[in-house]
Amino acid sequence: MMQLTIWGGAGEHGRSSYLLQYKDEAVLLDCGGKKESGGQYPLISPEVIPQLKAVFLSHAHEDHSMALPLLYKHGYEGEVWTSRVTAQQLPGYYQAWSRYARSQAAELPYGDEHIAAIRYAYLEERSIADEWSSVFPGLRIKWGRSGHLPGAVWLALDWHGKLVYFSGDYTAESGLLATDEPLLGAICEGGDEADAARRSISETGRIADLAIIDAAYGANPDSQAVRLAELERATEEVLRAQGSVLYPVPTSGRGQELLVWASERFPEAQLIVERALMEPLHQLAALPEWLGDGALARMEALLANGRLTIVANEEERLKTLARKGSALIFTNDGMMQSEVARWYYEQLSGAARHAVLLTGHLAAGSYGEMALRSSVGSSDSSGCHASDFPIQVQHIRYKVHQGLPDVRQMMKRVPSRSVVLAHAVKPRTDQLLEVLEEEGYKGVYSLSPGDRLIF
Ligand SMILES: [Zn+2]
Ligand SMILES: [Zn+2]
Repeated sequence: MMQLTIWGGAGEHGRSSYLLQYKDEAVLLDCGGKKESGGQYPLISPEVIPQLKAVFLSHAHEDHSMALPLLYKHGYEGEVWTSRVTAQQLPGYYQAWSRYARSQAAELPYGDEHIAAIRYAYLEERSIADEWSSVFPGLRIKWGRSGHLPGAVWLALDWHGKLVYFSGDYTAESGLLATDEPLLGAICEGGDEADAARRSISETGRIADLAIIDAAYGANPDSQAVRLAELERATEEVLRAQGSVLYPVPTSGRGQELLVWASERFPEAQLIVERALMEPLHQLAALPEWLGDGALARMEALLANGRLTIVANEEERLKTLARKGSALIFTNDGMMQSEVARWYYEQLSGAARHAVLLTGHLAAGSYGEMALRSSVGSSDSSGCHASDFPIQVQHIRYKVHQGLPDVRQMMKRVPSRSVVLAHAVKPRTDQLLEVLEEEGYKGVYSLSPGDRLIF
């Protein structure tokens, strides 16, 4: 019997961390932080650390990676298996996380020496995508691109006769990134379960024993196309009224995809872009192995675009805003926590023709979330009235995770005896579970940190 313990990440958004144990051995999937109250960390049991044989990291985002140093603080000496690109991105995330903790007057639970102690091992050097390889005697893994961020992967583990699938953060609908569809179960369509179970592990078609899958959008049925149509409508309306749109986006991730999208959809509009967002675009262009078909050419067209103005300081920003008039402005920090994002917000507030379009997760208490509340409610608990903030703030999510149709699709591609729905708060996860159970799915779980599952 194998045991899964949720150290974080199921029934909540953040601190993704899943412990797998068999007898006195353990492996860990992700070890992230939660960006609330100055930083929350997984429920690490220090007594398990000596059992840890390997740690796997799905991608560089803070909610999957920022607690890795804690493992080393508690005495872990082994490796963190991830992609090379993920390891290259991490120093920037550690710096940002430390700045975030400081801004909240919170103390980091680890020191620089624990960050420096992390030993990375690279998945791509062990095997190509979708191919099994051995990590240590008794554990075989395979990985594939998960379409969520350059370097982001899904993982399948074959350990002590159990097959475990971990989607990481997954989307098959990225505008620029390639996704390797996990096809663990493709061949068993038409065959029965017992038949599939008899097949050897070297074949596809085996039923997984456990799948931990990204279900961040709960039961939401929208496709990316629906979201982009909404974003397009909202942007069009502002441009028609001679207003500017501010898109606060994370430094690396959906920002680059939306930038390419905006340059193609609004060929007449001026684009003002923070330099911080351009470096990841260049980095992305240098990683063709993580890109989807045609993505490189589309990025190159954006870079050659004469309507693109890159800014990096207040003087340049002021000058460009004054000269450009109506524009599409891309600034870093998707939750508007950065000074620069707030600066743009202040410059634009006061005029109803402008709009802020928030496109991702908004942590409780973040500046973006407060701006949204101030804008949509006529009055809220902080006493702000909509009339105090004439600028419109809208929240239209760009998909970088999975919703209902994607979860269904994944369960078809990766048939599994037990499925843990991850990455959404408990009520949203419960709602998705209810829908899936009504549709006849069995063995699906909505769990919370601290919960255990024997499989
Ligand atoms: Zn992520
Ligand atoms: Zn995540």
